[in-house]
Amino acid sequence: MPLDSMRKMQFLFALRSKGVTDSRTLGAMEKIDRGHFVRGHFADRAYDDIPLPISYGQTISQPSVVGLMTQALNVRPRDKVLEVGTGSGYQAAVLGHLARRVYSVDRHHGLIQEAGGRLSDGDIYNVTLLTRDGCFGLPEQAPFDRIMVTAAAEDPPAPLLAQLKEGGIMVVPVGQSDTLQRLIKIIRTGDRLDYHELLPVRFVPLIEGVAPD
Ligand code: SAH
Repeated sequence: MPLDSMRKMQFLFALRSKGVTDSRTLGAMEKIDRGHFVRGHFADRAYDDIPLPISYGQTISQPSVVGLMTQALNVRPRDKVLEVGTGSGYQAAVLGHLARRVYSVDRHHGLIQEAGGRLSDGDIYNVTLLTRDGCFGLPEQAPFDRIMVTAAAEDPPAPLLAQLKEGGIMVVPVGQSDTLQRLIKIIRTGDRLDYHELLPVRFVPLIEGVAPD
């Protein structure tokens, strides 16, 4: 599903102007059509640099934030990646383009089902979606080379930190839901965790427990 060329150029230009410069990230976002993950009402805004509503009161993140988080995660082709917060499945698809294997979990079963349909329509087969409380990570597939959390936690959940491989990187928005959140990059070196603050962001909150739907 390639974007038509004019819209694609504008979309990529907007990403670059917001600081997304990594060529692999730009390549993945050029390949994965955001329009495929935004339906109905908001479809004609799919290439604008704004978050948009999806089902269950959740949002698909702003493209420049997807780009900045993806580039900060520095995904390598052999990596096994965990995403917490599948939502529309867009970020998972972008990660799937860059990594060997992606697991993405969401607390809403309905979102997992919808996103699963979009990924199979897009012939993306290395991304596995599961209905889980991502606060506990995915112990049966751990450890991970890279972990991305796309909902805001007050603190990075300890089980996620424990599921990060030696040399692994995690990107997570941290802060109270309605106040300013900061995107944090955490690098594990042995038992040491180094925290780097990247940029202010605004995400829906990470909520404990699987949703009744
Ligand atoms: N990455 C998504 C957008 C994420 S919106 C995309 O590309 O579209 C945040 C998502 O986190 C929501 O879908 C919400 O249901 C999910 N979420 C919130 N708390 C969670 C938890 N504890 N475990 C798993 N998913 C959670």
